Amino acid sequence: MKEYHHLTPALVEELKGIVGEKYVYTDKDKLIPYEKDEGVEREYFHLPEAVVLPETAEQTAAVMKLANRERIPVVPRGAGTGLEFGAVTNDFGGIILSTERMNRILEFDADKMYMVVEPGVITAELQALAKSKGLLYAGDPCSGDSCFIGGNAATNAGGNRAVKYGTTRDQIYAIEVVTPTGEIAQFGGRLKKVTAGYPLEKIIIGSEGTLGIITKLTLKLVPLPKYTVDILAVFPTVESALSLVTALPKAGIEPTCLECMDNAVIRVVEQYLDEKQPYSDKGNYMVIQLDGKSEDDVDDMCVAVDEICRAQGALEIFVADADKVWNARKAFTEASAAECPVAAMEDFVVPPDMLEKLLIELERIGQAQGVKFRGVSHAGDGNLHLDVLRRGFTADEEAAKIEAFEDAACAAVYALGGKISGEHGIGQKRKALFAKYEDPAALALMKAVKKAFDPNLILNPGKVFDMEE
Ligand SMILES: Cc1cc2nc3c(=O)[nH]c(=O)nc-3n(C[C@H](O)[C@H](O)[C@H](O)COP(=O)(O)OP(=O)(O)OC[C@H]3O[C@@H](n4cnc5c(N)ncnc54)[C@H](O)[C@@H]3O)c2cc1C
Repeated sequence: MKEYHHLTPALVEELKGIVGEKYVYTDKDKLIPYEKDEGVEREYFHLPEAVVLPETAEQTAAVMKLANRERIPVVPRGAGTGLEFGAVTNDFGGIILSTERMNRILEFDADKMYMVVEPGVITAELQALAKSKGLLYAGDPCSGDSCFIGGNAATNAGGNRAVKYGTTRDQIYAIEVVTPTGEIAQFGGRLKKVTAGYPLEKIIIGSEGTLGIITKLTLKLVPLPKYTVDILAVFPTVESALSLVTALPKAGIEPTCLECMDNAVIRVVEQYLDEKQPYSDKGNYMVIQLDGKSEDDVDDMCVAVDEICRAQGALEIFVADADKVWNARKAFTEASAAECPVAAMEDFVVPPDMLEKLLIELERIGQAQGVKFRGVSHAGDGNLHLDVLRRGFTADEEAAKIEAFEDAACAAVYALGGKISGEHGIGQKRKALFAKYEDPAALALMKAVKKAFDPNLILNPGKVFDMEE
């Protein structure tokens, strides 16, 4: 296993010299908030040796040069809303490099429709700024009120609007990156097309802080759609609801969001919010958001959607109270945890047309393993979030059951042409299954890329995959 070194008092002083005395934390009570992210598994909680908060790319580069020279692991961190413990240290030890202080909007050109920002800007803040000038930043993770744009890029965050606008990777023109060896590199450009060498920005985005630290981002903006409508279609079965995933695109309808909630989830949310949800006695929901440039555009789409939903067996179709329906959808995680403590969270992704098959398979596997779960899907992009519930077994029994469930579930996901994570990433939690099910040749090349960027393997070691040394 790779040998790393620990911080010494002299190195702490050197770090203070780079970022300023008060921006290096070593006291335990200041380190505690950084020992975890939003994942639920306590076995991954880990205190860093120090937290370092640079203000600029130059300071970040100087920290990386020191870490590289001294073989100290560095874990980049945004807001810590990740669910896979990617922004938390592990047994390798080392420091957390927080991007909290790099939180400025550097440039906003509403006419040319782009924005240049630092990684520590909260996503909702830049969305609001774009909106104030009639523009849309289309990245939209549900954690937008608290997560950072740098974290979104590092995880290639998805979200509700990904069906129409794509994931974070699709919203970025260019990034500035501090490499593990402490160089400052520029990747990408504000270009409509380019064929000039490898598009390294595409690799850094989604690499979960293992290839470089993103210190600046140039974001694409689009005109804010003038008209938006949220339709709630209620179906007798999940299968009939999921038929929209293929029926809508085939009819030329491109929804902004297509979110599926089954009846069990609707009831759990209803109880948690203490608010009656429509048709909660028997319905399964598909929430369909449509947007367009004119009212007529949106009206035409509504008529077509209505016809398609009826043809697929919908019980009811109506324009939803947007606040109410999205509040219900976004309450899933809290509602599920309030009903029953959550033992594990899954983030499988399959081709959207395979979602129904996956759900049938998971039901079968869950029953065979004695595992109960609740799930909601970003159905339009085939991404299924499952909360696996605690069932009162002993800790060892529960761990064994979940392990068996996850293994069988992953086998099913990959057999259907899917992947283990659609948007949350691999982090520390999923790397064993990722190593087992990912194509070995692809995995070997990923490791070669990691080694090329990070010859001493000091940036976020033990995340995504283990490097054999
Ligand atoms: C309630 C809730 C809802 C969520 N909804 C969604 C959703 O809809 N879609 C979705 O995709 N995710 C969602 N997430 C997960 C999470 O919010 C996203 O992964 C988010 O992008 C993480 O951003 P962050 O700033 O919190 O990053 P962190 O958690 O701090 O870090 C995440 C990873 O990115 C790396 N990293 C962070 N900043 C940088 C940087 N500047 N340079 C290099 N690496 C960096 C870290 O090392 C780590 O591996 C949700 C989480 C919660 C708790």
